[in-house]
Amino acid sequence: MRGAVPSYLAPYVDRIESYQQESVLDTYLLTTGERSTSDRTIHERYRDLNDGHLLHVALEHGDRGYARALANAYFAAAPLLADAGDRLRAGRLALFTTIGGESLRVPQLRARAAAATDPDSRIAYERAALALVERRGSLERAWVEAHAEVSRGLGFPRHADLVAAIEGDIHPWLIHAQRWLDRTRATFLATWRAWRERDDLTTGPFTPYLGRPPAVASGAADMITSARATATAWGFGEVAERVPVDVEPRPGKAPLSLCARIAPPRDVRVTTHSSTSPVDYGVLLHEFGHALHFCLGPDRPFDVYGDHQAITEAFGMTFQRVAAQAEWYAEIVGAPLGAEDLERVWFVSMLLRRMNASQLLYEHSVHMGEVDPAEEFLRLYKREFDADVTPHLAYFRMQQFLELRPFYPLYLYQADCMSDVLWSELATIGGDRWYLGDACRTHLRQRFRATCEVDLPEWLRLLGSKLPASIDSER
Ligand SMILES: [Zn+2]
Repeated sequence: MRGAVPSYLAPYVDRIESYQQESVLDTYLLTTGERSTSDRTIHERYRDLNDGHLLHVALEHGDRGYARALANAYFAAAPLLADAGDRLRAGRLALFTTIGGESLRVPQLRARAAAATDPDSRIAYERAALALVERRGSLERAWVEAHAEVSRGLGFPRHADLVAAIEGDIHPWLIHAQRWLDRTRATFLATWRAWRERDDLTTGPFTPYLGRPPAVASGAADMITSARATATAWGFGEVAERVPVDVEPRPGKAPLSLCARIAPPRDVRVTTHSSTSPVDYGVLLHEFGHALHFCLGPDRPFDVYGDHQAITEAFGMTFQRVAAQAEWYAEIVGAPLGAEDLERVWFVSMLLRRMNASQLLYEHSVHMGEVDPAEEFLRLYKREFDADVTPHLAYFRMQQFLELRPFYPLYLYQADCMSDVLWSELATIGGDRWYLGDACRTHLRQRFRATCEVDLPEWLRLLGSKLPASIDSER
């Protein structure tokens, strides 16, 4: 509990919890593909919590945490966005192409392209995927435009103004990200060029990826077993066993992985896709990191209402890094990962971090209304990744992020930075191989608990970090 509940919110605590439970379960079922349209009746029953009025009250009281949570409800409940979302899901479901008698969707086509050993078939798979992406591009664009309109409904002229209201002055973070990109660009591009030569790759219309994806050796523990064994080794066996992990393939299942805090600490669920890629093993550790946080931090759901999303993302990012450690494969997964595959995992994590930083700058300039969204996206990807990507990717990525929170790339960038701090904290306590044992158990529990009590600036002070939010006054 972050201090006493303010008087304007106190009468709503129980309703907030039941609304969260119903609404997050709805999101979870849409993500797993068990439900194809959102359940509007949930939001209609909680209009007092999602019509934007309480959000403004929270802002007047300077309660950014609660304002962020109430903003999420406002967007989740907006009928215009729900319509656009349902149309988008239906459109995606209808998008597949038939190759050699087999029906393939975009993620499958891209996986085939990534795994193809000769350039011709790789290009053929990429073109087929691109044709599908272009067909659904108008639906994603329509969703993003609906989002901007819904945002204006709150009385902020630009979406960037809403972001400033709920996040405070984010310019120090934008400067931080720009400097980080400038500082790492030459090394990144040289490494990326070397990989392309090694793998005989040209950059395609999509986000850069490596050829020859790394794979965990057969005979190793599968993703779920590895994630549960890891959490058990850390001393969290009870949580490891009771959090359900959905890997069931379904036609309408979203390509992303998700940890749903339905009624924490009791009902927390994870959904992902079964895979032998160590990168995906890392994604599951990331989601499991959220699950540990939500199962071990709060006493009741309201305790994490208004928590800062970047903090839970920092746990996710930190634990995801475990899947880039050779010793983890040898000791916990039960099969060593070759040096080259390990190098590929490291490169992918560097790539993802760069994408988060780029997306932060990109979306901010779009939300300021300063740029043409498609043109700016092409320019940025050319500069940061030396890639000529499809402009449709701009709307695809923005839609994915905006559906989660008003400004998710900020949280991901902040989390990337914080994970450096958290990792060294854990290594100080448990040694370089802290992730193989339970030396950090008490410390992690304290950190999970603290998220129920502090917002980002206090959290950064707690970590002793010099990241931007803690040097506001020094600007
Ligand atoms: Zn996450």
